[in-house]
Amino acid sequence: MRKLIMGIVEFREKMLPQYVQQFSKLALAQTPDALFITCSDSRVVPDLLASTHPGDLFTMRNVGNLIPPATAEGVSTGDLSEASAIEYAVLVLKVANIVVCGHSECGAMKAVFSRHAKLKSPNLDKWLCHANNAAFRLEQEGPLDDSLKAHDQLSQLNVLVQLEHLMTYPIVRQQVTAGALVLSGWWFDIATGAMYAYERTSRSFAVIDRTMADRMIARLTARAR
Ligand SMILES: [Zn+2]
Repeated sequence: MRKLIMGIVEFREKMLPQYVQQFSKLALAQTPDALFITCSDSRVVPDLLASTHPGDLFTMRNVGNLIPPATAEGVSTGDLSEASAIEYAVLVLKVANIVVCGHSECGAMKAVFSRHAKLKSPNLDKWLCHANNAAFRLEQEGPLDDSLKAHDQLSQLNVLVQLEHLMTYPIVRQQVTAGALVLSGWWFDIATGAMYAYERTSRSFAVIDRTMADRMIARLTARAR
């Protein structure tokens, strides 16, 4: 906690002067590029990994980057918090992109595997049921990358399943169909610090280097035309 408190003072004294103008402008409104959905894991730091600044990302984090699916009426079958973030981002902020970002060594994915070694965590156990489809898919269809550890294989498939859950929300489906919203699946490898993006054509996650970034941006530009 001492580190956290001293971090606030360090920001106030060293960084804040360069951000003062930006924050006073942002106090009036925010226009983030994307809704970024990722895990609560302390090792996943979106603003550091994506070199983003205040106002760039509307972020929603939870254990396992899970999105409870919606009913036909668009009401979440799980916690309302995730659904509210989605509604606010899509309807109010009108973001053009939603990224679901999973990561390696995810404690939530490990917990899905060790479901039988109960932690006496009734809330967590119930919450993780939203990753059950990913576990089922791994069992039925196998991994996207068999060189990964089993929990990382699950974590990659979990990203795809959560993108499908997103599409159960009528407002998301409508915007995607209208071409106003693009959903992307990303995966962060903690050990190497590399970010990957899911490629439908190759059915695999590819590292986001400059070549890949150029391809992704060209695709977004073509879609926006
Ligand atoms: Zn995690």
